[in-house]
Amino acid sequence: MRPSKRLDLIPPYLFAQLERKIADKKAAGIDVISLGIGDPDTPTYPPIVAAAQRAVADPGTHQYPSNRGRQDFREAFAAFYARRFGVTLDPATEVMPAIGAKECIFNLSLTFLDPDDIALASDPGYPVYTGGPLLAGAGSVLMPLKPELGFAPDLGAISDADAARAKLLFINYPNNPTGAIVPDGFFEQVVEFARKHDILVVHDNAYSETTYDGYAAPSFLSTPGAKEVGVEVFSLSKGYNMTGWRAAAIVGNADAIAAYWKLKSNVDSGLFEAVQLAAIEALSPAVDADVAAMNAIYTRRRDLVVDALKAAGVDVTAPKGTIYVWAPIPPGYESSAAYCEHVLEQAAVVISPGGAYGASGEGFFRISLTTPDDRLAEAVERIRRLG
Ligand SMILES: *Cc1c(COP(=O)(O)O)cnc(C)c1O
Repeated sequence: MRPSKRLDLIPPYLFAQLERKIADKKAAGIDVISLGIGDPDTPTYPPIVAAAQRAVADPGTHQYPSNRGRQDFREAFAAFYARRFGVTLDPATEVMPAIGAKECIFNLSLTFLDPDDIALASDPGYPVYTGGPLLAGAGSVLMPLKPELGFAPDLGAISDADAARAKLLFINYPNNPTGAIVPDGFFEQVVEFARKHDILVVHDNAYSETTYDGYAAPSFLSTPGAKEVGVEVFSLSKGYNMTGWRAAAIVGNADAIAAYWKLKSNVDSGLFEAVQLAAIEALSPAVDADVAAMNAIYTRRRDLVVDALKAAGVDVTAPKGTIYVWAPIPPGYESSAAYCEHVLEQAAVVISPGGAYGASGEGFFRISLTTPDDRLAEAVERIRRLG
């Protein structure tokens, strides 16, 4: 048996060794606290679960769904985008369900990239921005997110040759892993750049509903001209505690969505209609209070982490969105991986090395806020004691 050469292109799973070490420690009875993975620890909000329970009991949801999605699902997304972002979407052509953002982002590479093409990918970034192009037989060029630009890439630094080969551009704000929000004027620059070079922009929107301190994150599509050059992938995973449900949608440019549909109709058979009905409930104003309550919990945890890190002398900025705190590693460590390994060995706390999210993440570490307050407090106290 010989797996495809394509698979050889994928680097070994970065956390494999780490996961082994964690398992060994736990087996030895050590109390390991994991702040590594961004996966909400609290349940999906009750109205969404109730809607799903009703939907699962209805035999009308038990057959193959259409890849285009239910009419009421598409209308619910259009209504949400109008209410929340002031963006007008045509439910017939500008909204389609996705089986999670990951599926969608991966399949957009298969939809748009030929062997000589590249995708421009935010670095550090979600691994599918580079893994998707590789598995599609194409390539990617990293766009370093510059701390001095508010963790935006410098579009002017992209060479003409790269811009000419680029068919896709992946961006994500509020940003994983840096916690940054979109800098003023950046989406406008992206629209102009994409128009000039005929590139499809993919805005990975996983965190617009997870924000703090009164900040309301915009949709990329609220930028003038964005719908002509781009799509937004809206995931319900993080904002609605629905990571296991695989609920997302692609919205925006109708031609891009039609091409994605053509690919998808050969790959999968749509999103379970009960999940679509749960998503409709999630997007209704009835759930706004649950989202706000969740964000109040994350605000408290964020402050707990940021205060503890500051007390330990770390130069950290409190994020206005996402479920992550991103901070520089202390001096004296050769890499973020070495620091994170030290923290695991000495404090039995798992944090993510910034280098795992791309070369430009080197020198930083990421703490996820998806752990109950008392455990999070214990973990940051252990890190603080390490000095
Ligand atoms: C969590 C996350 C995703 C995954 O979303 P799913 O809808 O669960 O596939 C995508 N992009 C970013 C930036 C994320 O942090």
